[in-house]
Amino acid sequence: MKQSPEEIVNKARKAFASGKTKTYEFRLSQLKGLKKFVSDNEVEMVEILKTENTKPKFEAYLGEINHMKADIQNAINNLEEWMKPLKPTKPLPNIMDQVLITPEPFGVVLIIGPWNYPLALNISPLVGAIAAGNCAIVKPSEVTPKTANFLLETLPKYLDQSCYYVYNGGVPETSALLEQRFDYVFYTGSTGVGKIVYAAAAKHLTPVTLELGGKSPVYLDDSADIEVAARRIMWGKCLNAGQSCIEPDYLLCSVYMRDKFIKAAKLAIKEWYGDNPAKNPDFCKIINDNHFQRITRLLKGAKIAMGGATDPETRFIEPTILIDVKPDDLVMQEEIFGPVLPILTVDTPEEAIEFINKREKSLALYVFSTSKMEQDKFIKGTSSGGIVINDVMMHYSCDALPFGGVGNSGIGRYHGDFSFETFSHKKATLVKGLDKMGEFMQKIRYPPYTDGNLKI
Ligand code: NAD
Repeated sequence: MKQSPEEIVNKARKAFASGKTKTYEFRLSQLKGLKKFVSDNEVEMVEILKTENTKPKFEAYLGEINHMKADIQNAINNLEEWMKPLKPTKPLPNIMDQVLITPEPFGVVLIIGPWNYPLALNISPLVGAIAAGNCAIVKPSEVTPKTANFLLETLPKYLDQSCYYVYNGGVPETSALLEQRFDYVFYTGSTGVGKIVYAAAAKHLTPVTLELGGKSPVYLDDSADIEVAARRIMWGKCLNAGQSCIEPDYLLCSVYMRDKFIKAAKLAIKEWYGDNPAKNPDFCKIINDNHFQRITRLLKGAKIAMGGATDPETRFIEPTILIDVKPDDLVMQEEIFGPVLPILTVDTPEEAIEFINKREKSLALYVFSTSKMEQDKFIKGTSSGGIVINDVMMHYSCDALPFGGVGNSGIGRYHGDFSFETFSHKKATLVKGLDKMGEFMQKIRYPPYTDGNLKI
């Protein structure tokens, strides 16, 4: 029988209170368990991602399996170092003391995942939670039930079952989970639901990471190599059929570059998917009817410069470019999350920056320019979760970099060292001696006060 959220949280809390998750050996054993979970089940994962998300094998590896492996291995390699207390530079009054920043686990954490990368976006946060010594409950998306069931049935076999749980369900089940008191909530999904999760966590003063979405702009400067830029931008638009949180959402460029871009994009799409992308297994379909209808609605009345074909039977949407798009068009009001690229023309980089800065802060911003001065204008003159110059999405796999949003695109960050940091409380730790000599030095702080005490 399915356990209630309360039962699961109580069990996890008991396991955490036993202290077992805090040792290096335990954390390492669980990370090794995760590693085995991935390697033992690679074939099944590829199969599930194919049937449920229509992901080609290459994309299953690129976007999910390789990420999970890299995150787990990185944690295994660095765990000992991460767990050591940091020794900051001591201020003069503490020169005789031990001054430490001790990382400690929060306790029981809740990880809520989305459907677009339904394995990696549950497992990668779990890596951080385990490495930092927490117990965790993972709630995969109900939109991908095969993956959710696979995680429920398979993941616990590789982990300590008193500390780590998978809990499946949709809105009612997630809402019930969120009524419980957690010590940390890590949520990946849409900005709208992010606000619901944040409000639920706030009732318990629970800290959160919110990995959200939004519209990530691309600016294409006149100086850019059009073939290279078009290939990179269209690749980002077509990977997972544009169903990625950091997909390039819309393009800003001059009229001159727009026409050259469309020509180069058409060549790239033909080279990758041939004359009939609908039948090409390297191009994904849209996840479900709701999303298919949502995206096709964005095409209604739009001026299509490339693509535009759709098929409700297979939920295929052709790689599509829209032109003469106005800022108040429907397609510019919401995250597209599909293989549709609107182009809006601007005359200068300054105009593009103004356009970007008038909108919510995005998860990513992409700038294609060979001018160092212009690159710097965007780096310094805009705010986004991340910025990539002359490519799209590739910052995601660079685990030296923090991954996360700002403003409407999220709160907090993870990947690499940042995953451990996210799931650790940094405890201020001051250790003093209790000897008479040290106490003599402290005399100045005690009453009776005189002006001499002010020298403290
Ligand atoms: P979603 O917000 O609909 O669902 C995410 C999770 O929240 C699911 O597990 C779902 O069950 C749960 N949920 C949904 N409604 C809820 C409610 N009312 N109360 C409580 N829980 C609820 O998001 P999605 O459609 O699965 O994913 C797409 C979105 O996620 C896009 O906006 C995308 O940009 C974003 N995303 C962000 C990242 C990132 O790393 N920043 C990664 C992937 C996806």
